[in-house]
Amino acid sequence: MSAPTTAGPVTAGPPKRETEVLIVGGGIMGLAIAYHLALRGVSDVVVLERGYLAAGASGRNGGGIRMQWSTEINVLLMLESVELCKRFAGELGVNVWLRQGGYLFLAQSEGERARMEKNVALQNRHGVPTRMLLPEEARGIVPELDVSSLAAACYNPRDGILFPWPFLWGYANQAAKRGVELHTFTEVTAIEPSPAGFLVQTSKGPVRAQRVLNCAGAWSPEVARLVGVELPDRPHRHEILSTEPLKPFLGPMVSVLSSGLYFSQSMRGEVVTGITVPDLDDGSVKLGSRLRFLTTLAKELVRVMPRLAGVKVLRQWAGPYDVSPDGSPIVGEVATVPGFYLACGFTGHGFMMAPVVGKYYGEWLAGGPRHPFFDRWRLGRFAEGKLESEEMIIG
Ligand SMILES: Cc1cc2nc3c(=O)[nH]c(=O)nc-3n(C[C@H](O)[C@H](O)[C@H](O)COP(=O)(O)OP(=O)(O)OC[C@H]3O[C@@H](n4cnc5c(N)ncnc54)[C@H](O)[C@@H]3O)c2cc1C
Repeated sequence: MSAPTTAGPVTAGPPKRETEVLIVGGGIMGLAIAYHLALRGVSDVVVLERGYLAAGASGRNGGGIRMQWSTEINVLLMLESVELCKRFAGELGVNVWLRQGGYLFLAQSEGERARMEKNVALQNRHGVPTRMLLPEEARGIVPELDVSSLAAACYNPRDGILFPWPFLWGYANQAAKRGVELHTFTEVTAIEPSPAGFLVQTSKGPVRAQRVLNCAGAWSPEVARLVGVELPDRPHRHEILSTEPLKPFLGPMVSVLSSGLYFSQSMRGEVVTGITVPDLDDGSVKLGSRLRFLTTLAKELVRVMPRLAGVKVLRQWAGPYDVSPDGSPIVGEVATVPGFYLACGFTGHGFMMAPVVGKYYGEWLAGGPRHPFFDRWRLGRFAEGKLESEEMIIG
């Protein structure tokens, strides 16, 4: 029987008092996993979100998806994730405005060029059609680029951008249709392990759960602390802005390796662009917008694309990156707290990874096979000193 719902996928009233799976966090990761559990018949699932759905990073991101990575596991997962994105509209009934205009990475030094060549060779071995470009060839793809400081570029025409929100609606609607309860404005305040699972205290009453999944993104260390587990991921403010709409002129997402600047053009014509600016690392999530970001970004963007000098900025906002020490996510069951699971530490790429991670998480928890990434990205690697070979293309 379906759960009682209000208009849309959100369930009315307080959460049910007992559930098989309780997911903390109604961002893309929590919703994708809930959907994939329900798809495989595990629909006794409650998702608790302390704000509105996707109040965290998932509702604030740039929508970039790419197969260009420096580690084999990420190349393979993203090959699959892009395919899942392409099928999303057909399978979940929502148009996600996927546009495969490619990703163009720009290298400015010989060292960057050498690393780029290595990454491109790795990607090619797995069937990703990335190719190295001379600076002038990069101008063939984006004629407005100033290539005077470029050493090289690389381009994969199958990378792209999508509109994040329909993704969330697709997962939320389809999970709710299959009986998953989604509760917004419901905060998890305490989690007490018990012989039969967990007693979870929420702002709308207690819930007993056999398994708890921590999908709280940049807030995941806080949620893990509720069961006495210290996580090594840390929040980092990441700012982004969007300009007035311009005539379509930009095909790919462009990314400058040295500065971390990236920019793309949305289907509505706005240039959406961000850059990482240092911040106070005190473990708290900060979401305010800073002038320092605006000036840093403006200088770098105009250096790379002088013709954008006069464009007007319409909106600036921030979201929390959830940064893990080796740049790879933290997933799976916590060895010291059986039944408590993690899906966090996705830094600046959790949106594009959610389709494939959600699929394998759902499959595993529903009794299916366990993908190797659960071992590679387990929490225990930090204590054992077995860090992942560092992924170089993070943002
Ligand atoms: C500006 C920006 C640009 C980005 N660009 C890209 C991009 O182009 N491509 C890409 O793939 N990724 C991008 N990312 C990263 C991506 O958005 C994240 O990796 C992804 O959204 C993480 O999803 P999540 O569900 O793990 O976390 P979130 O979306 O942050 O969800 C966690 C949720 O948990 C809730 N929560 C926290 N504590 C509690 C509690 N105690 N009780 C109940 N609920 C709680 C929060 O309110 C939040 O909604 C970007 C991020 C930012 C900030």
